[in-house]
Amino acid sequence: MSDVIEASPDDLMDIYARKSVALKGRLGELSPNAQIQRGRDWAAWNNLKVRKIWQDKLSASKKDVVRPDYTKALEALANGEIKTLWCYKLDRFDRRGALAVLKVLENLDQTGARIIFGEDGLDSSNPDHRRMIMWKAEDARDESDRISKRVTDTKAWQRDHGEWVSGKVPYGLKANEDRKLVEDTSPARPDHPNFGSKATVAKRIFRMAKTGTYSLRDIARWLDEHGVPSPTGGKWHANTIYRIITNAAYSGWQVHCIGNQRGVIYRDKKGRRVRVGVRLVDDADREAAVRAIKGHTKPSEVYRGRASHLLTGLTRCASCNRAAPVSSRSYTCTSALHAGTRCPAPASAFRPPLEDYVVSRWFARLTNADEDDPLLKVVAERWAALTKPEETAEVQEALSVLKAAESTIERLLRDRRDGLYEGPAARFFEPAYKDAMSEYNKAQDTLRKLGGDTGVDIGFLLDAETAREAWEDADLDLKRDLLRLAIDQVIIKKWNGGGRFDGDKRVEIVWATAA
Ligand SMILES: [Zn+2]
Repeated sequence: MSDVIEASPDDLMDIYARKSVALKGRLGELSPNAQIQRGRDWAAWNNLKVRKIWQDKLSASKKDVVRPDYTKALEALANGEIKTLWCYKLDRFDRRGALAVLKVLENLDQTGARIIFGEDGLDSSNPDHRRMIMWKAEDARDESDRISKRVTDTKAWQRDHGEWVSGKVPYGLKANEDRKLVEDTSPARPDHPNFGSKATVAKRIFRMAKTGTYSLRDIARWLDEHGVPSPTGGKWHANTIYRIITNAAYSGWQVHCIGNQRGVIYRDKKGRRVRVGVRLVDDADREAAVRAIKGHTKPSEVYRGRASHLLTGLTRCASCNRAAPVSSRSYTCTSALHAGTRCPAPASAFRPPLEDYVVSRWFARLTNADEDDPLLKVVAERWAALTKPEETAEVQEALSVLKAAESTIERLLRDRRDGLYEGPAARFFEPAYKDAMSEYNKAQDTLRKLGGDTGVDIGFLLDAETAREAWEDADLDLKRDLLRLAIDQVIIKKWNGGGRFDGDKRVEIVWATAA
């Protein structure tokens, strides 16, 4: 032996650690390394030298199981190589019940050796402990008891130390050996390895939700249509998607349940969030997705379109309310263009005079508007959306954050009233409430800074001369946009009489109103 230790067996101790592999309850188990560390600590307190570490990686619950290190550790004791064998817990040592343990202890008596069960605080050489050891050994035989006991022992500690203990791991993530969440890189479609991993599908779910254009059902349908098996292997349900999007574990946070709400961010005793693993989706994106599916965010309205005529999209037939796009030289009721659609009085208006009329009405309306005309507010908002899309988006975002925070605060208060934060859960209320309030205040600040008024100046549209200049300088796209600042619809009536185009009789303009 190269590593000769100059010590008598009385001062030497071995550690026996065991890792069970085939047990459901292993989530709550202390890792072998943690067991060993506790053994070392114990040795230090008792002035013993750790000679050797024995380790088995098997379940001791099966009677026929072979545990080489277990046997060797007992042999070392029996041979007098050491006087002390340390084991984390009795159930870690032998699960075959009192009789098996008794046999082991009887042999030890003759050599004066002892076994320490660290976590149980039991010493086999102490006669008073014998009865307890027997009792515990019997107890350890009952697997379900043992597991639940261990789980409560270590679960809280593991949770605070960022180990995944909440049972089933969310789709797209998996727990590694250290119980940390990592990306699940296994294929989302086993039959189609190139389709992408479960992690990429999970990310996609968040991206789709965030757009606000897909409902939970739409996303479930999309996954089904693309042949992606759900977490349980079958079809996707809206509820499954909801659970994914509302689960903070996807942003790497330790989570727990509050009431029937899953995936809630967990906090340790000092109120701090705990990291549990990889950040598949960052917080801002996840929160935006949650807001979108809860209906707090409307997809932003799109004004801009590619059309080759000034009034396309605005013009409608007074008789049937269908669109009246340009056909040859006129804006004409759709029914006149498509067979099969009927209109009692299809309207049509010659393009140049209709456009001239609408534009002149637009000028007149804006340049004669009173300062407090509600139309001007709408025009300013739409102009801001056109010219400062980012700031406008920022206001929209702040508004939706505000609404979401309001509903979180409401829910928290309701849950507290319903008693969900009583007892040990009480400490979760304050931090959650503080978070929601800080979100709320931040959003308020943003809104105050940007204001309902995003700082755009529409003065140039209200003065006849500058408005005319702006119009002349504008290309067709901008002209279309300018008209749409103030006009929502141009309704054309059918005209049977002859004569010149009379806009006042033929056209009704629907001025813009706030959304
Ligand atoms: Zn019509």
